[in-house]
Amino acid sequence: MTPEREHKLRTVLARRQPDLTVLMEQVNKPHNLSAILRTCDAVGVLEVHAVPPQKGLPALEEPEEGSLEAIHRVRTHNDTSGSAAKWVGLHVHPDTATAVAHLKRQGFKVYATQLSEHAADYRTLDYTQPTCVLLGAERWGVSEEAAALADGHIVIPMLGMVQSLNVSVAAAVILFEAQRQRLAAGFYDHPRLSPQQQQAVWEAWTDP
Ligand code: SAM
Repeated sequence: MTPEREHKLRTVLARRQPDLTVLMEQVNKPHNLSAILRTCDAVGVLEVHAVPPQKGLPALEEPEEGSLEAIHRVRTHNDTSGSAAKWVGLHVHPDTATAVAHLKRQGFKVYATQLSEHAADYRTLDYTQPTCVLLGAERWGVSEEAAALADGHIVIPMLGMVQSLNVSVAAAVILFEAQRQRLAAGFYDHPRLSPQQQQAVWEAWTDP
């Protein structure tokens, strides 16, 4: 590894945010998964969570490029591709209740993105607190179960004709607000991971 490459990796590692994450609930389309992971990498999210599609959608026989299965395969086979999947950890959970319980045990507040007039404007949240943004499926949005389990509901105000944004666009809008708040609070100025955590991530990133 060149000194420049090592410097780049160590700089990115020092900015990773262990207490900011997303839970993708049955987000299905590979290009959306890829786009969300790229945004997470850019914002400094350490790891993301996902509940794979379970109802109504056919199982993929062969992992489609960018799908959860393919991303999982990339990670388990230690592929050295430059994709965001290598730099952002992925936890796949069997179902929504398990995922939300896991996140709450870690101290996260889980905010479901909801196209509802009762949801809070996403800009009113304090993203310097441990925050998980729960994103819903392209077709039906966040499930009723997830909405009930969440600590709160947030919405990006829609003032035009269309009802909703693309899920990866919504993720980017919210996560960059989180980044803005965390930059202002100095969260990217010093490592947020313990030396042990940094070492573990370093080994995962540099494992050939
Ligand atoms: N018909 C679905 C519904 O009623 O929820 C639309 C789902 S939308 C295409 C897919 C996901 O993108 C949503 O579940 C949510 O996570 C996110 N999303 C899209 N627009 C949003 C908005 N204006 N505010 C918050 N989240 C949004």
